[in-house]
Amino acid sequence: MMTNLFDIIDIMKPAQYPINIIKGINIKHLRCPLWMDSQKVVSPFCEGMIRDLYNYKPAPLELLLYCAGLLLLFDTKYMKHTRVTKQIEYIEPSNAKDRLVCSGIIIHSTPKIVIDTNPGDAGIVEILKKLQPDIAIITHFHIDHSGYLSAVSKHTNARIYIPKKDEPYLVDIENYIEQLRPDNSDIIEKLLRQRLIESGYMEIKEYNSYDEATDFRFHNPDFMRVIRTPGHSPGHSSFYFPHDKILFTGDIGTDKLGPWYIFPNCNLAQHIESILRLMTLDIDLMITCHGGIISKGIKPALRQCLKIIYDREYMIKSKLKKGYARSKIVEEGIIFGNKTGFDEPMRSYWYNGDDTAFNHHYNLIQNGGMINRFPVVYDMLRDI
Ligand SMILES: [Zn+2]
Repeated sequence: MMTNLFDIIDIMKPAQYPINIIKGINIKHLRCPLWMDSQKVVSPFCEGMIRDLYNYKPAPLELLLYCAGLLLLFDTKYMKHTRVTKQIEYIEPSNAKDRLVCSGIIIHSTPKIVIDTNPGDAGIVEILKKLQPDIAIITHFHIDHSGYLSAVSKHTNARIYIPKKDEPYLVDIENYIEQLRPDNSDIIEKLLRQRLIESGYMEIKEYNSYDEATDFRFHNPDFMRVIRTPGHSPGHSSFYFPHDKILFTGDIGTDKLGPWYIFPNCNLAQHIESILRLMTLDIDLMITCHGGIISKGIKPALRQCLKIIYDREYMIKSKLKKGYARSKIVEEGIIFGNKTGFDEPMRSYWYNGDDTAFNHHYNLIQNGGMINRFPVVYDMLRDI
């Protein structure tokens, strides 16, 4: 059992970790039943566990709480809560394999803010009802991030903020489908419509739009800044907390299949620019929507995103040079790998995604390619 415990708790030496998180230890994947306030779960249950990991001799009562904490850790039914700082809480879905959910954050500040908290669990409704956030933000319009807004509207009075350039896709479902449906494909349209409705798509009537100029500091100059990171979607945005040097990246692409640019309204050149922009920030902790929390090797993780894009471009150029047909390159995969074995409708969905990704790369190649367009990337990738 202890081996498993070590597997799911990331222990870091306080000296390596500049943010004071529960005596310098970052707890990952803490599962918490809905009836229990996550703050209380972190303390004393997890504090008890952590002290023990540091050879602390717990009192009998603490030992009891420790065991209760262990039971919670191995209960996989619930979304995962991680208290990142005193203010920021990270919410992860219990089943992150489903791409129509995502991880987000709750900011326990004044005002109370939620960003992309769409774990796809009925529990989010309980959290929203109890928390009553003042503000609900999404980093971009994709349904795995925006699906929770219907619950926000229904159960809270929170002001909804959506990125200005993503507005059209959230106010009209037909715009959403039209923009993401390549070649008027009926099979994709049917799939998209069904998945959007199942995932809580709601045409938003009352909202505020935001961009990089929007002030989310609320009289605290060190609070939260919007960083413009388009490319994955036209309005995709990240959020930076200068005081703690924490970055919430949305879908910048440090997850398994990232970076993603499988829809016609993605922009590969902008996506590269966005990664480069984030690399200029002073970041101690990076919180992502599909790839967990990154506390070490943040710049290398972002550089790896550039490397993946570069490798994809190199592969496409090599195959074109060898005389491969475009359809064969797409079939063999740009982002999703070989699709021959997939059943419909997912086969068409992945094929069209890779077909669109091919288009984005091809446009960039026609304009000189990634290195010509962004010479700084050459130096960054030379040694890896
Ligand atoms: Zn996305």
